[in-house]
Amino acid sequence: MASAYAYFRGNVVPIEEAKISVMTHALHYGTAVFEGIRGNWNADDGCHYLFRMREHYERLALSSKVMMLEMRDSVDRLCEVTLEIVERSGFTEDVYIRPLVYTSAEQLGVRLHNLEHDTLIFVTPFPAYLPESARCHTSTWRRVDDTGIPPRAKVTGIYANSALAKTEANLNGFDEAIMLNGDGHVSEGSGENIFMIRRGKLITPSPSDNILEGITAATVVQIAKEELGIETVERTIDRSELYVCDELFMTGTAAHLTPITEVDRRAVGAGVPGPITSKLSSLFYDIIRGKNEKYRQWCTPARARILS
Ligand code: PMP
Repeated sequence: MASAYAYFRGNVVPIEEAKISVMTHALHYGTAVFEGIRGNWNADDGCHYLFRMREHYERLALSSKVMMLEMRDSVDRLCEVTLEIVERSGFTEDVYIRPLVYTSAEQLGVRLHNLEHDTLIFVTPFPAYLPESARCHTSTWRRVDDTGIPPRAKVTGIYANSALAKTEANLNGFDEAIMLNGDGHVSEGSGENIFMIRRGKLITPSPSDNILEGITAATVVQIAKEELGIETVERTIDRSELYVCDELFMTGTAAHLTPITEVDRRAVGAGVPGPITSKLSSLFYDIIRGKNEKYRQWCTPARARILS
């Protein structure tokens, strides 16, 4: 039977034993950075494929650097530990792995310096995050700016901004929010990057539009080029371009590749996922489940272990 394990204070322990104090600094001030890694279950192979795990830990290291947090372990060690907790947990469904580098000091006082840090990782079952295709609206909440909290770092505190946008979208009857940056240009979803197709070109906001530089987005850019011969243009996107584009989709570790079929009550294209989105999507889903040999190096297999 499956039972979740976590990495906590340098040890792999049953998840019930991984507990923090109510005084933990990161809980109060958002002084932590995190990642989300998918373990995609492949029933034929009897294993999870951890998708681009190393790249996620490399991004965690960069986020930590921005926030002056010290990672207690190397990227190699974090990859090893992640494999161990996924294997020991024994799930036979899609899972999500959550690493967190956080200010573990049990102290008051807003700052980053002179405080203790720790790294934890847990694994949990995680089904699809968005519906098969999403209806979106433009959020009234603007994406945080690099001059406020840098969104290229995956800082927990930033997700208060995402949560405001996501809840507004859901309570207004939409699946997901599209956030504009301070200039009023398209930035990203509450937890996803965004891609638009116009006249056969794939277009996405640039890193300076206050986005998280997504690993799923980089994957899509590469497969669009290598498999479909489509180059991606990074440029400013106006809100109204979303209304007139041919196809639109979101990418993210949680969201995978999700077609957007409606924005602000206007149908995207014909109101159904378009041909390029559909081709990218079928390539993508095969790749993340380890079914495409060419991209197998992105997938680390984790096999459930029976514990003695
Ligand atoms: N933007 C935000 C704000 C996110 O939280 C995420 C999810 N990590 C993404 C984009 C997509 O990034 P990735 O594809 O690396 O998961």
